[in-house]
Amino acid sequence: MSRPNCPHCGSTWVNKAREVKNKYVTKQGYKCPECDRFFVERDGFEGKTYPKEVIVDALHLFVEGLSLSKIREHLYQHHGGYSPSDGSILNWVREYSELVEKFEKEQMEDPKIGRKIHLDEVVLKVGKKCTTQ
Ligand SMILES: [Zn+2]
Repeated sequence: MSRPNCPHCGSTWVNKAREVKNKYVTKQGYKCPECDRFFVERDGFEGKTYPKEVIVDALHLFVEGLSLSKIREHLYQHHGGYSPSDGSILNWVREYSELVEKFEKEQMEDPKIGRKIHLDEVVLKVGKKCTTQ
């Protein structure tokens, strides 16, 4: 796995540091020797209680039209006993649809840039569903 750039100063020379753990997720931490600051790998899911796989799966099931209780049942059975609340699931849906909307808006404002968007197809579907309702 390639090392990330320092989010503070942009340096590409960062050192692996301690791991950061919450209830369910362990993330690799890094220390930047340029600006002497600590940061955690960024995958768009930093600061979340649940693992990325669980969140993406929940969004996918939401797009498929499953009810919240069915989504929770699936997550519980397929992801080793995770059972996020309805509120958590709805938060994920809202948060990632906003993210997609923002990216789409930026693209529309300047279509010549042709930037590559690194978002899950699943997340894009969620964005479409939410904005067309
Ligand atoms: Zn730095």
